[in-house]
Amino acid sequence: MTPDARNAMKRRTFLIGVTGLSTLVLTACVSPAPRPSASATATPTPEPKPTVSPVPKPAQMRRTSWSADPFARGSYSFAAVDSTPEQRTALAQPVLDRVFFAGEATSPDAPGTVQGGRDTGLRAAREVISAAAPGERIAVIGAGIAGLSAARFLKDAGFEVVLVEARDRIGGRIDTVSDKNWPFPIELGPSFVSHSGTTSLDEEFTRLGIATAPFPSASETRTDAGTVVAVPDTGQKAVATALAWATQQASDMSVQSALDGSGASKLSTADAGGGVSEADWLAFRVATVLDIDAGASVDHQSGWYTSADAGADDERIVLGGYAGLLTKAAEGIDLLDSSVVTKLAYRDTGVSLRLGTGESLSADRVIVTVPLGVLKSGVLEFDPALPFAHRGAIADLGMGTLDKVWLQFDEPFWSTAAPLWTTVGGDEDFRVWINMMPLTGEPVLVGLVAGDTALRLAGADDATVLAAALRGLTPFYVPPTPTPTPTPTV
Ligand SMILES: Cc1cc2nc3c(=O)[nH]c(=O)nc-3n(C[C@H](O)[C@H](O)[C@H](O)COP(=O)(O)OP(=O)(O)OC[C@H]3O[C@@H](n4cnc5c(N)ncnc54)[C@H](O)[C@@H]3O)c2cc1C
Repeated sequence: MTPDARNAMKRRTFLIGVTGLSTLVLTACVSPAPRPSASATATPTPEPKPTVSPVPKPAQMRRTSWSADPFARGSYSFAAVDSTPEQRTALAQPVLDRVFFAGEATSPDAPGTVQGGRDTGLRAAREVISAAAPGERIAVIGAGIAGLSAARFLKDAGFEVVLVEARDRIGGRIDTVSDKNWPFPIELGPSFVSHSGTTSLDEEFTRLGIATAPFPSASETRTDAGTVVAVPDTGQKAVATALAWATQQASDMSVQSALDGSGASKLSTADAGGGVSEADWLAFRVATVLDIDAGASVDHQSGWYTSADAGADDERIVLGGYAGLLTKAAEGIDLLDSSVVTKLAYRDTGVSLRLGTGESLSADRVIVTVPLGVLKSGVLEFDPALPFAHRGAIADLGMGTLDKVWLQFDEPFWSTAAPLWTTVGGDEDFRVWINMMPLTGEPVLVGLVAGDTALRLAGADDATVLAAALRGLTPFYVPPTPTPTPTPTV
């Protein structure tokens, strides 16, 4: 595939955000966490920022740290510098017709999405069926959407299937929390679905009676001072110019290098209206579209294979619980949960899996669906080592991180009904917010962080993350109207 074909590789407008997370413990004043330097030069902030936000503390908080999750090691794959889309197909190649691969990172059409995970699970199941004799025993490693889809297909085709999963639950990166602390199911992994593929997931949600709602791609954007500003095409144009320039170069380079090398990042830092400069608008585009989409900073994203466009306009947000998609697929499947596969030995006669418990199990063939982050870590040993092309793909493709913080307030402190909020011009960690109020009637907000910021915050305690989140919300804060003092009657 040429760099020009990279648009076909676009994942989605953006993704929203398992792990063991925390219940809320709040302390008062926390010093601000150190800030990363912005990718594009932003206008210097004239006033020092208050360390404590006026935004009231939430009643509930739940946060994710996907990079620290041993069974994910990141949120989704992305086009890293020097990787190619063909490497996704290389990673998907069966080895000796005994070891098959699925999972979002092996999807050439919809990498980094639930749709991509499901499509690849079905593809791998068909590959197994072409190679296998009826009734063979097939092991599937990983009970995420890819593994469940593969297991269901093979079971329905008459194979003996065993699904081996490291966690004590199914779903993998799909992690819906439905408990009494929250007024509706909250999503620690994916929240969005877009209409794509021949068997589109959005239709399946409808068929299963799981509520979804249209979600706008345009946000309400505010400056640090809380002023609502229209988003010009400055940042989008600069990125498009840089990526077009990158495709003309002899070798791949990072998006940041393309911005610098093409001159596209040389933008004015003078106020271009509302206290926001052209350079701020480029930094805004990078932070709210590119970083979120890849889960990685533009220093790591491929200039050849990153898309300049912001993705689909037909995103829907899943309100009735993403995990509802999994229940039916899992029915009647032999699931070995809390079972970490540490070694996979394969020969041309069959496969054997060693588990973390020291037990082992054998099968005729296996489908591996563990995330790219797990493959990269080497905690799953292959014997013999995988072919060169597989190892190259695992090393070169990137694993990005997107984290979420869910906050439930006693009452709204904001007045806007916009479902998507962004901020420009500042250097806050949380610059993208989803307002669940217009979608559910509940005062719940979801903050998103990606890339280096997400990696840094993953190591911070809850109070630090909460303080960062509340600072990011300050532009949306509306002070309560004082209750008028009754006029004394004479
Ligand atoms: C915060 C966040 C937001 C996202 N937002 C969206 C979105 O809005 N829309 C969208 O379409 N996609 C989104 N995604 C991406 C989407 O969730 C994934 O692409 C998809 O769920 C991946 O499915 P999978 O089956 O390939 O992998 P997984 O779901 O990760 O399944 C792999 C399974 O393998 C298991 N496993 C790992 N190691 C071992 C081992 N050694 N032994 C046994 N089992 C093992 C894991 O526990 C897991 O269950 C988001 C992801 C995250 C994290």
